[in-house]
Amino acid sequence: MSELHPPPTIEEFYKFCTQRKLMAVRCMKCRHLMVPPRTICSQCHSSRVEWAQLGSKGKLVTYTIVHVAPTLFNHMAPYAVGIVEMPEEVRLPSIIRTSRLESLKIGMELELDFSPRPQDPSWPQWPRYFFKETA
Ligand SMILES: [Zn+2]
Repeated sequence: MSELHPPPTIEEFYKFCTQRKLMAVRCMKCRHLMVPPRTICSQCHSSRVEWAQLGSKGKLVTYTIVHVAPTLFNHMAPYAVGIVEMPEEVRLPSIIRTSRLESLKIGMELELDFSPRPQDPSWPQWPRYFFKETA
């Protein structure tokens, strides 16, 4: 059995984030999309998967406000983390950035954005995507 592409890795996922691309892995057999990437389809167990870029808009499915944050995010607290549903029918966890936490609403439209590279070298692999309110 020959593989044209090496199996997707989480390292590649982060690399795509630094290129401002949010990528899922699509099963080439049943078209199921997965984030974070997996090498085996969680639906049909096929190992024929490929990278697929997601769009930049999503909807807020649920969220919670974090008041006590991990050290790296202390300066951001309180902040919102939530689940965002993409039109491609995948859901992913994300930090939700807003100027007013009380304006967050379930079902509201959100826009994808990316943070610059982290200054903290002890955490090089933090996924740098987040969602924010649409302008
Ligand atoms: Zn599949």
